[in-house]
Amino acid sequence: MRRIGVMGGMFDPVHRGHIAVALEAVDALSLDELRLVPCHLPNHRGPATASARDRVTMVKLAAQIDGRLLVDERECSRPGVSYTVETLESLRRDFPDAALVLVMGADAFRGLARWHRWQQIPQFAHIAVVSRPGVTIAIPAEIAGEMQGRQVESATQLFTAREGRVIMLDALQIDISSTQVRSALQEHGPIATLLPDAVADYIEEHDLYRAG
Ligand code: ATP
Ligand code: MG
Repeated sequence: MRRIGVMGGMFDPVHRGHIAVALEAVDALSLDELRLVPCHLPNHRGPATASARDRVTMVKLAAQIDGRLLVDERECSRPGVSYTVETLESLRRDFPDAALVLVMGADAFRGLARWHRWQQIPQFAHIAVVSRPGVTIAIPAEIAGEMQGRQVESATQLFTAREGRVIMLDALQIDISSTQVRSALQEHGPIATLLPDAVADYIEEHDLYRAG
């Protein structure tokens, strides 16, 4: 069974933390590929600072580091608010036989109960939760009922099904966020440790985030 990871985000901009998380999921779960899915219009936060086009381009630059990382533009090509459940539904149509794994940071998982049709996500994909500094990696109380009996401890157990299981990946603690990157850029602070070189160059060339 082909194993496809799916990692959504604003990627405003994509940073070294995103790429480390994506590669951790690829390695820990032996994924055949992981699709980075830049969000067009978010539901629970203000719009992105950079345009969808710039964000997609930066994610493409960052993904060049590993052939298993792909950029999936379906949310940016779809009008209106981007809902993860619709993205997974659409991926399930494209890949009926693959195992799909939604990869998210512990902070995103903590807020899952606020996502559109979140209860249906396990009908389309597994969920892999990746640790993040400052966030306890656990199943939030509001979703405990729905998550009951889904948690597994190993990739082998995960892939005895195509979707519907949850795994915690707690090996990483990467203290980088796009918020921190945007502030560093505004303040003309150092960014080399935060951003892939090609992304830093693109931001510089296009004068992103610094203006205003
Ligand atoms: P912002 O500060 O703008 O919210 P962010 O760094 O949180 O940016 P997002 O685009 O919001 O990045 O996140 C996309 C996905 O990547 C989410 O699932 C988020 O939890 C995860 N993620 C981002 N950075 C990390 C990190 N350092 N460790 C673990 N997960 C991360
Ligand atoms: Mg975030």
